[in-house]
Formats: sequence, structure tokens, C-alpha cells
Amino acid sequence: MKLCADWIYSRFVDEFSAAHHEAAHAVVGVSLGLPLLDEGLHLDTVDGGITFNLHRKPGDPSNTPADAEERKRSIVMIKAGYRANLKLFPGTPATVASDDRREEVALLNEMYPPGGQEWVSADTRQKEDAQSLVDKHWEAIRALAQAVLAKPVVPRSQQSFQRWSSPYPNEKCINSHEIAAILRQFGLNAIVRKESEGIYLSPDIHTDTGSSS
Ligand SMILES: [Zn+2]
Repeated sequence: MKLCADWIYSRFVDEFSAAHHEAAHAVVGVSLGLPLLDEGLHLDTVDGGITFNLHRKPGDPSNTPADAEERKRSIVMIKAGYRANLKLFPGTPATVASDDRREEVALLNEMYPPGGQEWVSADTRQKEDAQSLVDKHWEAIRALAQAVLAKPVVPRSQQSFQRWSSPYPNEKCINSHEIAAILRQFGLNAIVRKESEGIYLSPDIHTDTGSSS
């Protein structure tokens, strides 16, 4: 049971939507205690973006209460991106978040029989949780989106191309220390880590760290 370094990559219809979608992943993740990776948030300046943080990835079948809680927080963080799109433009098609949806479904499938009542209830509950956190932290999400939109356009490095699959040659980016400084103004304390620091055990979930793995 562990939170792994990962990224939430999405493609949208425009840079403005992408900025708010990625900012919602970042801010809602921070509000749930999911650390940011120092690489922060990037926009490809056309229609895609990526947020680097630590969250539960599908593939670890362990199912203790701590595992379930990690999945739940991760699903809420993932769902927050599309909730931000809907808040900006209520008609935004679900296809803009189809990669996010695949990850949510995979995490839900590790906890409940797919398509059963428990599965559907959890999916609905986590959507509602994501909506209320996007609403609660909307000013912070907007501030972060505006901050990254205001960044200069720079050519993407070779490392950037290796780290995310956008085909476009330029990007705007804001690192996680800058993100943390913005979020502090809204009472949110971001944990910033490097990927080389490895897995992260949330102290409020993993109270018995001696037996965690
Ligand atoms: Zn997303």
C-alpha cells in the first residue's frame, strides 16, 4: 500500500480549460494530503496538460482499509479535473477526461465487483466529494490556473518529451514550490517531494508504519 509517483495527463479543447483541469487535480490532491512531485504542472500551450503528484495507481491488489482510503482519495483527486471543466463550461463532453475515467474505473474495480451497487455508490459518492472540494477550493484552483497561464512559453526539453506524451513542442510550467507558495495563501499546505524519494505513506492513513509496505 503506497502512493506512487504518477502523472495525470489530459487533452482538452483549449489551454484555458486545460489549466483549470490540471489545477483542480493539483489543488484537490493537496487538500487530501496527496504530495506534489517537484515537477509541478505543465501545459502544452495548445490543449493538453499534466500534473505530477503522488497517488494510488491501479495494479496493487492489496485491500486493507488503508489501501481503500488511498484509492478513494486518489479517485476524488482524479475526478476533480473534469468537475473543474464542467464548472467552467457545463457542456464539456466527458471524452476530455476519458484517460482519467479509465484510471478511476480501474481503482474502483480493485475494491468492488465491477458495476455492482457498491461500485456505483462509491463512484457517485466520490464524484460528489470531488465536486464539493472543487467548489470549496475554486479560488485556489483559479489562482493556480492563472499563474501557470501567465508563465512564458518555453521549448520543451528532451526530458519533458520523455515524461509526457503531448506531441507539441512548447510548454508553460509552474514547479511545485511555486504552487505551494500560491496554495499557502488559501490555507493549503502542499507536501512537495522528488520522485527519487520513493513511495509515500500518508501519516494519517498509515498510523502503524512499522508494518506498512
Ligand atoms: Zn485529468
